[in-house]
Amino acid sequence: MRLILDEKSRRKFFLRLSIIILILLIILALIVSGIEVNSNKKNNKASSTSKLLTDNNKLAVKIPKNKDGNIYMEQNNIFKKYTINIASTNKNVTYKQDDSAIVISFDKNSSLILNSGISDSNSTDIYLNNDNGKENLVIKKNYKENNFVNINEGNDKNQVIILISKVKKPLTHKAVLNPGHGGMDSGISVGSIHEKDITLRIVKLMVSDLEYNGVGVVLTRDKDEGQALADIADFVNKINPDVFMSVHVNGMDGYQGEYQGIGTYYYNENGYQTSQRISLANIILKHATASDGWKNDGVVKDKLKVIRLSKPPSVLVEAGYLTNNNDRARLQNDKVLGNLSKNLSLGIVEYVNKK
Ligand SMILES: [Zn+2]
Repeated sequence: MRLILDEKSRRKFFLRLSIIILILLIILALIVSGIEVNSNKKNNKASSTSKLLTDNNKLAVKIPKNKDGNIYMEQNNIFKKYTINIASTNKNVTYKQDDSAIVISFDKNSSLILNSGISDSNSTDIYLNNDNGKENLVIKKNYKENNFVNINEGNDKNQVIILISKVKKPLTHKAVLNPGHGGMDSGISVGSIHEKDITLRIVKLMVSDLEYNGVGVVLTRDKDEGQALADIADFVNKINPDVFMSVHVNGMDGYQGEYQGIGTYYYNENGYQTSQRISLANIILKHATASDGWKNDGVVKDKLKVIRLSKPPSVLVEAGYLTNNNDRARLQNDKVLGNLSKNLSLGIVEYVNKK
């Protein structure tokens, strides 16, 4: 009887011992797997993948050193400028901003791959957030105000340009831009190509270039709508900017070979602002014809209502002839339009900084 009891208690003892050993083994296994997870995380950090999984389901975005990736950053003393290139077929780009960040939302089907190019360093200022099933790009602000988002639609690609202010008051000058014509008034048309659409594209492309250089921009229209010339001048005079620019495209039916190039126009009623207005027209023309083989069509004095009635220094640009085959091809090319917009902006920047 005593022996049997001893046998039972021995079995109980070994059973308890095996359970304890099993529990210890499970704990050990959990610890070891934990270490492996940590070391994997470290390896990911050291690898050269363009996205990095961090806590809170955030994907830090790497910014390429050059423009090879589909997002890149450049900066000057007053702004950080992020340019994001996306397929022109993706029209569903929206954005919102609060005091601390700008959030750009992309179409889920856009399969946006950020930075397929060379990567530099991880940025904690810009990251992807997939929290609510959407592809959101979050860009942190330094200051609540004076941060800008511009979405430019192109034939080949769309661009989203985000400006993050590095100083409290980055905008030191102001320009009003007028995309010529609109609504029922198409301006010059060749087939389905209308002056009113080209002028709107040029002016919209100019906005971020001007802001980036410290010039705040007000547009007389940002969609396809008609405007009376006298109303445009009233609008300009109320805002009283440093510069007013009206953008047009020229045309001359039946003379397609002879008439081509970019010209700038000024008018100085009763000698009003003669030197400023001639200087502005010359500076704008010099920059506008600086690339892509545009012919210089000269500075012309012409009694055009919109620049005659506007009180700030005013210039009208005729950006090529839609009736000329070479000019028309240029005006339908995203790259050329981008260069032209940048050059027109640089002209305004040079003028306002000379004043
Ligand atoms: Zn026109």
